[in-house]
Amino acid sequence: MPILRPVILALALAFIQFPPPAVDVPRRHATEWLAPYRDAASRLIGEAVASDSAWQRLALLADTYGSRLSGSPNLEAAIRWAVEEMKRDGLENVHTEPVKVPHWVRGRESLEIVGPIPQPLVMLGLGNSAGTTATGIEADLLVVRSFEELDAARDRVKGKIVLFNVPFTTYGETVRFRATGPSRAAALGAVAMLVRAVGPAGLRTPHTGALTYADGQPQIPAAAVTAEDAARLQRMVDRGTQVRLKLMMEARFLPDADSFNIVGEIRGRELPNEVVVIGGHFDSWDVGTGATDDGGGCIATWEALRLMKKVNLRPRRTVRVVLWTNEENGGRGGIAYRDQHLAELPHHVMMLESDSGVFRPTGFGFSGTEAGRMRIRDIATLLAGIHMDAIGSSGGGADIGPSVQQAGIPSMSLDGDGNYFLIHHTAADTVDKIDPLDVSHASAAIAVMTYVIAEMPERLR
Ligand SMILES: [Zn+2]
Repeated sequence: MPILRPVILALALAFIQFPPPAVDVPRRHATEWLAPYRDAASRLIGEAVASDSAWQRLALLADTYGSRLSGSPNLEAAIRWAVEEMKRDGLENVHTEPVKVPHWVRGRESLEIVGPIPQPLVMLGLGNSAGTTATGIEADLLVVRSFEELDAARDRVKGKIVLFNVPFTTYGETVRFRATGPSRAAALGAVAMLVRAVGPAGLRTPHTGALTYADGQPQIPAAAVTAEDAARLQRMVDRGTQVRLKLMMEARFLPDADSFNIVGEIRGRELPNEVVVIGGHFDSWDVGTGATDDGGGCIATWEALRLMKKVNLRPRRTVRVVLWTNEENGGRGGIAYRDQHLAELPHHVMMLESDSGVFRPTGFGFSGTEAGRMRIRDIATLLAGIHMDAIGSSGGGADIGPSVQQAGIPSMSLDGDGNYFLIHHTAADTVDKIDPLDVSHASAAIAVMTYVIAEMPERLR
């Protein structure tokens, strides 16, 4: 039947897609199992977007308590406030868990060009840095753009202040100069290290963040300079100008301090010993007000439980919010949580950390099995209406990391598309940068995702 042949061919082609659909694209029939959760999801989302209460709580935290560095009275006062507020929300088993934290203090600090023409520069000491003597360190400047350039200049490093002038690409790529640059420079005899602030250029704003001294090298003082000043110092040196700098930092460690992780729950109605953990870190750097890093993550995860409570949902398993202490300059809160919950970790169904801000949230990262990923992708279809259904290739966080690695727990992160690294670790980390609707969407999405995982009959694997 030669006439029919083209028709059959056309029909066949109509049903073949090129390229074939990827296995992880949710198919319509795959989400039929979600039918019992649609009503709860829409109530949670409706409650979240009906008000800006999460943003208001975030603003209160950031405005009132300000920066919350480990060991500071601000952090401990904020912890006491959060515990009382969680109780007022009606969360259950609200309590703190003790953590000994490092107590680093910045003190006064300054950086200036001594020559050829004296003038001050904008700077911000790196967290956990050693200080200088009271009179400061005066030395000639050496600028390098990579570790390779440092090694190539090895004969000229001794006695210098070394600046790593590395433009921001991604955080992971650029942060290694902040973290390991001090010891790399010290190993060759540098007396101090400067790093071009790890973040996109933005109105001459320096970014702090932790450094990590290598064993066996002198612990030299280290600070960030702005992208603008790094470029300027590079131009001066490239012109052949001999630049002499003076760095003064009072930074030092005091004895370890007492701090706490904060825990609040909605106890599971059938399987209370199985736990879904969500949270963020409650400490912040000592500049700014820790609004986005990580007040936003703390409030959005906490709000997820408040929303469940508000719309009268008590899932099958326990949902627990944990606000960890000391993520920024020690990670002791995450380690203490693992150690204090060791026996319980096999019953941790999933752990989620929100520590990338809540700017323009797009969905979640997930790390776990392929079967688990399919489940998460299905659940995310409930979030399409608020454009939070993207599931990234990996999820986790610094505070959940120790527990996740210990017990092989599926882990998630909240992912966003906003300009997080512009204000990350800066004095500009204030709540005015954060859109109330973004906080509501983040809270809603975390609530829906967490609720379904805690409620579905079979455990997420
Ligand atoms: Zn953070």
